[in-house]
Amino acid sequence: YRLQDVDVTDTTCGYCAVGCRFDLHTKDGEVLGARPTDPEKAPINGISTCVKGKFSYNYVNSDDRLTEPLVKEDGEFREASWDEALSRVVDGLGDIIEEDGPDALGLISSSKATNEDNYAMQRFARQVIGTNNVDNCNRLCHAPTVAALKQTVGYGAASVGMDDLESADCYLLSGSNTTEAHPVLATRIKQNVADGAEMVVFDPRKVQIAEYADQYTRTEPGYDTAWINGLTRYIIENDLHDEAFIEERTDGFDDLKEHLDQFTPEYVERVSGVPPEELASAAETIADADSCCFCWTLGLTEHTNGTENVISMSNLALVTGNIGKPGAGLSPFRGQNNVQGGGGDMGPLPNNFPGYQPVTDDEIREKFEEAYDTEIPSEEGWRTTEQFLAADRGDLRGMYIMGENASLSEPGVDHAQEVLDDLDFLVVQDIFLTETAEHADVVLPATTAVESNGTFTSSSRHVQLVKRAIEPKGNTRGDWEILQALAGRFGHDWDFDSPSEIMDEIAELTPIYGGISHERLENGAELQWPCWNDDHPGTTRLYEDEFNTEDGKASLITTGPNEPAELTDDEFPLTMTTGRVLYQYHTGTMTHREEGIMSYVGEDFVEINPETAANAGIENGDDVRVESRHGTIRVTAQVTERPGTDTVFVPMHFAESAVNTLTDENDLDTAAKTPEYKVTSVRLRPG
Ligand code: SF4
Repeated sequence: YRLQDVDVTDTTCGYCAVGCRFDLHTKDGEVLGARPTDPEKAPINGISTCVKGKFSYNYVNSDDRLTEPLVKEDGEFREASWDEALSRVVDGLGDIIEEDGPDALGLISSSKATNEDNYAMQRFARQVIGTNNVDNCNRLCHAPTVAALKQTVGYGAASVGMDDLESADCYLLSGSNTTEAHPVLATRIKQNVADGAEMVVFDPRKVQIAEYADQYTRTEPGYDTAWINGLTRYIIENDLHDEAFIEERTDGFDDLKEHLDQFTPEYVERVSGVPPEELASAAETIADADSCCFCWTLGLTEHTNGTENVISMSNLALVTGNIGKPGAGLSPFRGQNNVQGGGGDMGPLPNNFPGYQPVTDDEIREKFEEAYDTEIPSEEGWRTTEQFLAADRGDLRGMYIMGENASLSEPGVDHAQEVLDDLDFLVVQDIFLTETAEHADVVLPATTAVESNGTFTSSSRHVQLVKRAIEPKGNTRGDWEILQALAGRFGHDWDFDSPSEIMDEIAELTPIYGGISHERLENGAELQWPCWNDDHPGTTRLYEDEFNTEDGKASLITTGPNEPAELTDDEFPLTMTTGRVLYQYHTGTMTHREEGIMSYVGEDFVEINPETAANAGIENGDDVRVESRHGTIRVTAQVTERPGTDTVFVPMHFAESAVNTLTDENDLDTAAKTPEYKVTSVRLRPG
């Protein structure tokens, strides 16, 4: 197409938390493509786009988009007016509240939606329904990061900005398939490595970015506290730690040092498979570097000990003095586009109001009670995984799910689907009739990101505008508009005219967003929180002077030793990890509607080491059954050196071979209640 014929909208990518900005080209309601935004306009994130950001927009005008509300009658959906659908929702939720109280309901929000939508969802839960049983898909991924970093350094977020990530002298990267999950960020890191930075990768899979590393070390899934603590111990034992930093800026060093005694190189090798010489060389690389970024994704967090893994990483960064200075810091790569903002900052969380303000703090709760003119429960609510278990026990009778395909993404697919079927009332608000929506009593059609206005917050706490590029399809409405209409029917008069007005309310109630407004962003401000007031420039790098703790010092906290909930045995001798592939996005609701993408990766597979495959009589391309103690799926064999001989990998993107058929809904992180997606004992059978 010719550029002069198209409409151009400068917006933010809706696929991952790198937060690329680009110009979306549209014509007559169709998305034609995306081009990087002028770097002058978007100096932090305007440089490039990856395959999803550039090409994956067919879903927006897909024939099977939801365009009208649906209500279920005698087991079948039929179209309904908004008036009828909303009345049904009010009756369905209202009956449960009347009979069993508001805590018999659970609400699940989505990081795919804007900050303003997520803020509206938590307000709806607390003000309109009257419960703290509100959570977000962040529970299934980085919740342990938030829980850990809140304890050690104060904010549940990356300490670094993009500049630090591009200028580090060294990276320790673990549990992150960066090239596939955060492609543009991977390119930026690889460029820095090509320019001389060092990179050490510890991972059970030799992921693509490991090909660029100075050292790749294969680890045993589920034993990360062992090797991370082993690195910290080695550094302290060999006087490579930063004594002045530890003395001035941390608490708990003596206890940590004593606790680390047990993480000898021999122990680390025995449990996590890391040879002593590789432990030593990695420790020396990190300690020798002028600055180091500690980077991780879900390979560290989606474990029964995920919070402890991240605390261990934080300890290592603190002991080497690598937080709060250029090129150094903690860098969890958040997963979905808006998991930092929508998944956490906006407070669709059972324990926190927006800005991580605890619901159990009387003064803070009173502030929100005054703003919402209602009483808010003083106890924390249930996390999503706990909501499913509570429903199974009969303690939770209804759910409202916005933008999440929980029936496939929750651990234990059979369990999740049974729970959804047995609920007395289920509302699903989404853009497609997903596998989850199929179970609903009422389905409310929402707009996509390219039809919405609002903001997303990237991994580096960077709040950016999302702009409506085409008019909403059919009778769809924005998530916040649907919630506002429902609030009105419950007798709460919300009067937001736009997402910009919602952001103004967020800023009033949320100190870290205090200076963020659509107006400033429209005027070109690049704002990373904390941004305290209208004159504040935002904060590129956290903790330059002090940590966000009562005494300004970071906490060194002991962790481990621990082992995974599931262990292998003669019957189930392999460990399965799960994850993403470059071309697909979550349960595929959006990317499966893209022919080009499906032609690259149109079905799930299992990665098997050649030796393991040979022992099992399996060849590349064969049909394989992957069996766990919880279920069986059938996928295609991909024989590759990527996993070790005792590990296999299965992606998470396809309903027909839903990998969570194999996982266990009861194996949860002890602190954050995040599922164990990275250690499931399995066996392989040809056929
Ligand atoms: Fe979008 Fe992430 Fe790709 Fe950037 S790297 S274009 S944010 S999916």
